[in-house]
Amino acid sequence: MHAGPGRDYFHNIAQTVKSILIGMRITLKYCFAKTVTVQYPDVAPTLQPRFRGFHYYEIEKCIACDACAKACPVDCIYIDKTAPRKIDKETGVAVGGALVRYAIDYSKCMFCALCTEPCPTDCIHMGNVHDMSAYTRENMIVEFTELAKQGLQTPQPLWMSVRRHVPQWATDRQREWQEYTHSADGFAGQPEKRREAMLKALTEQEAPKKKPAAKKEGDAAEAAPKDS
Ligand code: SF4
Ligand code: SF4
Repeated sequence: MHAGPGRDYFHNIAQTVKSILIGMRITLKYCFAKTVTVQYPDVAPTLQPRFRGFHYYEIEKCIACDACAKACPVDCIYIDKTAPRKIDKETGVAVGGALVRYAIDYSKCMFCALCTEPCPTDCIHMGNVHDMSAYTRENMIVEFTELAKQGLQTPQPLWMSVRRHVPQWATDRQREWQEYTHSADGFAGQPEKRREAMLKALTEQEAPKKKPAAKKEGDAAEAAPKDS
């Protein structure tokens, strides 16, 4: 038997009220739940140990080999140098040509960390800066060679340079960013020396000349004039 139009009408109303109540049940549940809003930037965000943020880059160890740029799936790393660079084994610092440009376009970067894997000198890392804002796409390109001139290895959140009151956690984090140290880093605890090496990476540096190998005893005897 076909239900009358009056019955359909009330059935639709019941269905609508039921749907609203189901939706509101979830809303109400969160109304009385403990708040989890973090008052950033006044309160520091909690980052997990393996968090992958904006890179930090040790320019003084970079040999501009392009391995990171080739590994990048979206081609967002730009490198330019004047001549080949190589690590000076005595100091652990790269010498040779000047690093003209090392930049990453963060409007394309996926934070996949593939660029950090093939680096032969372990100088590009995923950092812990999670916050970067810009007004244009061009400003999302971070010029790490320009940062190096200011003694920085990683971009800093914009608000930290314009806000009148910077909370203590951010001041501490800034200090940490300026003195980044990495395992087996020859500059650990020597920020001034690191800064000097960073600036040198921007100019051509001659590789130190190899010391002549000490002659063996046999060679010396051969070289000595023979008695006639
Ligand atoms: S994290 Fe991934 S996308 Fe970003 S620069 Fe590295 S390789 Fe490219
Ligand atoms: S960061 Fe590493 S992989 Fe990339 S150019 Fe420099 S040395 Fe090569």
